[in-house]
Amino acid sequence: MEKKNIDWENLGFGYITTDKRYVSNYKNGAWDEGGLTEDANITLNECAGILQYCQECFEGLKAYTTEEGHIVTFRPDLNAERMEDSARRLEMPVFPKERFLDALDQVIKANAAWVPPYGSGATLYIRPYMFASSPVIGVKPAEEYQFRIFTTPVGPYFKGGVHPLTICVSDFDRAAPHGTGHIKAGLNYAMSLHPYVVAHQNGFDENMYLDPATRTYVEETGGANFIFITKDHKIVVPKSDSILPSITRRSIVTVAKDILGLEVEERKVALAEIGDFAECGLCGTAAVISPVGKVVDHGKEICFASGMEKMGEITQKLYDTLTGIQMGRIEGPEGWVRRIL
Ligand SMILES: *Cc1c(COP(=O)(O)O)cnc(C)c1O
Repeated sequence: MEKKNIDWENLGFGYITTDKRYVSNYKNGAWDEGGLTEDANITLNECAGILQYCQECFEGLKAYTTEEGHIVTFRPDLNAERMEDSARRLEMPVFPKERFLDALDQVIKANAAWVPPYGSGATLYIRPYMFASSPVIGVKPAEEYQFRIFTTPVGPYFKGGVHPLTICVSDFDRAAPHGTGHIKAGLNYAMSLHPYVVAHQNGFDENMYLDPATRTYVEETGGANFIFITKDHKIVVPKSDSILPSITRRSIVTVAKDILGLEVEERKVALAEIGDFAECGLCGTAAVISPVGKVVDHGKEICFASGMEKMGEITQKLYDTLTGIQMGRIEGPEGWVRRIL
């Protein structure tokens, strides 16, 4: 198979139309057979549920080429399960896990020429999503839905080197107690755009959101979970019902415990204690782990010992081990890497 003629190393993170996408429609209480299409556009009724009341959820994962030349994905079963949970919370029909995995295989195989080569640092980003497609004007769940998966190649995350982030403690909240913070829905992102723009205007890379009830505990950023590392190399992960359960963060916890033999604590983390940590990172599919150098709390700077030049020692170990497993250089737990081609 001939790869597309793309300067993979210099790709950014943007949308590029690839050859095929997967579509399945839900109507009269059932999903249709589904299949691939070349049509990247969607025609919707003006009153479609997604346009009126934002009934939508999504996932994000990557396909990439391993050292041996296979095209693989990383733990897509967890994306499938998380999307089932998101759909239930939004009163949408569940797109079954087995069908999700089959649709992924189809769309990745059909776009194999767009999967960047091993060593380029680039990946094929995959976006499964589902939305209400039938008209809704009285407030209630729609009758019809569409599930789609498109793919787009994205460049290496740490292009031009690693630059630890500067993060501000936000005055806005990301998620309400007992709300939708734990599901992957566009609505959580719509309301985070304003805080994100404000943070950028003030010179920060991201927001640190606190627990909305007491504003004393660390939650997450708009699209990534925090991990902290103590001076004696223990991993500390914030625990809260309104944090999105990141697959990367859950994988890092397993890597830390079972492969690196580090102690891991999942507990509430007070903003007041983060100055005691040696390292801090943000976990998500896009970066795997992005080091945080500094958190600014209303003018008060909290600087981590790892500094503003590089990843901290333990963060780097976690990053190297997890990306090593993903790329097939290190053997990981059974079933983590799913071979497509
Ligand atoms: C997607 C997402 C993450 C990261 O999850 P991964 O499964 O690791 O990609 C973290 N926080 C939020 C709010 C997210 O939407």
